[in-house]
Amino acid sequence: MGQDPLKTVIIGSGPAGYTAAIYAARANLNPVMYTGKEPGGQLMITTDVENFPGYPDGVMGPQMMEDLKKQAERFGTEIKYELVDRVELDGDVKKIYTESGEEVAAHSVIISTGASARWLGLESEQRLANNGVSACAVCDGFFYRGKEVAIVGGGDSACEEALYLSNLCPKVHMLVRRDELRASSIMQERVKKQENIQIHWNTETEEILGESEVTGVRIRNNETDTVSEIAVAGFFVAIGHIPNTKIFKGQLDMEESGYLIHHPNSTHTNLEGVFVSGDAADHVYRQAITAAGTGCMAALDAERYLGEKGII
Ligand code: NAP
Repeated sequence: MGQDPLKTVIIGSGPAGYTAAIYAARANLNPVMYTGKEPGGQLMITTDVENFPGYPDGVMGPQMMEDLKKQAERFGTEIKYELVDRVELDGDVKKIYTESGEEVAAHSVIISTGASARWLGLESEQRLANNGVSACAVCDGFFYRGKEVAIVGGGDSACEEALYLSNLCPKVHMLVRRDELRASSIMQERVKKQENIQIHWNTETEEILGESEVTGVRIRNNETDTVSEIAVAGFFVAIGHIPNTKIFKGQLDMEESGYLIHHPNSTHTNLEGVFVSGDAADHVYRQAITAAGTGCMAALDAERYLGEKGII
């Protein structure tokens, strides 16, 4: 490690990470950001973002992330396109290890590792990913215009995406594993009213069919144990997200589902000098603007902490 510890390391590069970087850099904390494997995070697989204040005409997700990156760099953030795969967060000096073997020490760490789409875990799902299997209807729905598709899930995301697809596709098969939806009642109503959405209750996906592209799906009714096939060209997965917090297990307090726990009304974790922002600690709001807001909070909390420790 050799060198003096950095003031602040930011792990993750979504709206939370970049906002933390902008604030930390402007406060002379000389932040170093490790972007992770998917620089820009979930917004890189989003098209129009219409609800981020300040963009009256909307903005494409990747463009917004490029803008945020430029803004962070403008004030001196050093951006490293590397994955952090191990951390030691206790004690005054935190240690961060990257996949490529780099080791750095820092007085404070801001976590903004976000969350990733949850998958069913089928072999066919992996094999056909990007060839008919997608976790983002808004990103990929366009490719299935005029074709029948299936979507699995019964939450607000699945309903929202099923409705989106129903405007592009003649028929949307919604595969729901129970006999009810988890989604809010307004979304349930909308889905049930939409004539070209067919809900298959008590239905589980056994296999996605197709060699090099999706041609159908084999489903099983878990009440009657009946197996059947539906011909579809696209298979969308909308069964929630998993926070990217595995590397913090055993060090930081987290919920059973992996979402990090912070003190109320702050971004402090159970370890001094470690702050959390964005979707890694939020399964409720999960918006770009809320992630950005908590990124700002994390940088301010880090600045205050470093001041109290006499480091700045
Ligand atoms: P969610 O609420 O956790 O719903 C996940 C859905 O996927 C549930 O229906 C669940 O079934 C199903 N599921 C999970 N694992 C499955 C599996 N292996 N096979 C088949 N089905 C499976 O996730 P979400 O819809 O992504 O929403 C997450 C949060 O964001 C929620 O709080 C939601 O309200 C919010 N959100 C809000 C909006 C909005 O307000 N516009 C839009 C999107 C999301 P079970 O019900 O049987 O567990």
